[in-house]
Amino acid sequence: MNSRHDMHTHSLASDGVYEPAELVRHAAQAGITELALSDHDTTAGIVEADATACQTGIRLIPAVEVSTSWQSKAIHIVGLNIDIDSPVLQAGLRELQNIRDARAREMGARLTKHGFPDSYSAAMALAGAGMITRTHFARHLCNIGVAGSISEVFERYLRQGKPGYVSTQWAEIGDAIAWIKAAGGVATLAHPHRYKLTASWLRRLLTDFKQAGGQAMEIVSGNTPPQDIQSAATLARKFELLASTGSDFHAPEHTWVKLGRLPALPADLVPVWSCWRA
Ligand code: AMP
Ligand code: MN
Ligand code: MN
Ligand code: MN
Repeated sequence: MNSRHDMHTHSLASDGVYEPAELVRHAAQAGITELALSDHDTTAGIVEADATACQTGIRLIPAVEVSTSWQSKAIHIVGLNIDIDSPVLQAGLRELQNIRDARAREMGARLTKHGFPDSYSAAMALAGAGMITRTHFARHLCNIGVAGSISEVFERYLRQGKPGYVSTQWAEIGDAIAWIKAAGGVATLAHPHRYKLTASWLRRLLTDFKQAGGQAMEIVSGNTPPQDIQSAATLARKFELLASTGSDFHAPEHTWVKLGRLPALPADLVPVWSCWRA
């Protein structure tokens, strides 16, 4: 049976394309019963999403995807079922918002040098009131015809080592987990297979994540192939982590998976939502 939980999604509050309310309505149509809105480094969409969730009968899990740095790599930790009024969490997220603003200016400067002037103002305009991300720069560069697709823009201009990439020191893993816990949330390692780590580096990451108080990891993320679900499940058993499942939905046309079409978790794992179901 398909999971009816989706513990990782984005809205216009960061780099998703739907308003929080629209996202919740689409999730309801897709048969999801519990939905986490987990925008990048912001909880600005949660109140609106929750209001619509109440009307549609969905349970909205307040969440945030926190940007961290580990061994010079950007690692994402989703805080699930957080109290968005936590002063500790919000102070941490403000730090990351400032880092994002400064990084976006620097990205704009580099892209200007590379022959794409005004990228900063264009990306900021696309972000609107939402958190600025590389996705907004990618959409702008796509719009002006620099490449044929968002992933091609990332590949040619925005990923590590490319002209628009700005190396960034995000939060420490331990700090991010402490903020999430201060907000009563469950710290969940996002999309473990997307970091392109070798098996031994992934075990090192999980060792540090667990030692810092991390409690869960995503086993199903987007269209994870079956062998990655199995290897993530093996790691969750080894490190005694709760299991999460999330689409990482951003937009209907670019998403890896449709909302609500996620494979089931292996039956022996403890789902992260058992934490708040009781
Ligand atoms: P940022 O946190 O600002 O560095 O942006 C990271 C976001 O960029 C991710 O959450 C994805 O939404 C998006 N992203 C990263 N790499 C790619 C890619 N190769 N293709 C499409 N989107 C990507
Ligand atoms: Mn994103
Ligand atoms: Mn992510
Ligand atoms: Mn995400």
